[in-house]
Amino acid sequence: MDNNMSIIFDAKSQNEGLARIAVAAFVTELDPTVEEINDIKTAVSEAVTNSIIHGYNEGPGKIYMKCSLTINEAGKDALLRIEIKDEGIGIEDIDKAREPLFTTKPELERSGMGFMFMEMFMDDIQVASQKDRGTTVIMTKKIKNNKSR
Ligand code: ATP
Ligand code: MG
Repeated sequence: MDNNMSIIFDAKSQNEGLARIAVAAFVTELDPTVEEINDIKTAVSEAVTNSIIHGYNEGPGKIYMKCSLTINEAGKDALLRIEIKDEGIGIEDIDKAREPLFTTKPELERSGMGFMFMEMFMDDIQVASQKDRGTTVIMTKKIKNNKSR
């Protein structure tokens, strides 16, 4: 069984909460723990903030978020996949960008920890990017289906 959802929103900081809550609401069918929800919300915030601040340099643009939940046949656990895409400036060196403490905006008091948080809180993260075309971050996390107990 699987379930899919996608939303498109303006790259504005006031929509960060929308993205977090949309994903949190999407996973409620699994009855996740507070910790799991917080981890997922944090990862989503980091990716969305990156699109707003770096991808679009705080200028106009759209963010595309796609989520899917695949519940295994036994109904015991599920795989959450979140894709967050922008059509902004892109990342020149992805490996470097993913290094802890690497930031191209130290003047904004960015600490270069965003990708590290996404890695910590999700099971897997993949980044695809093309200069001047945009960036796509795909994160997955295995979640226990507490409803099955
Ligand atoms: P922090 O997340 O701690 O506030 P940060 O955003 O600089 O700081 P990361 O989230 O780890 O740190 O991102 C590292 C770097 O990767 C950024 O400084 C930026 O250069 C680049 N980057 C990340 N996401 C994008 C994006 N969507 N578009 C363009 N560049 C990006
Ligand atoms: Mg960041």
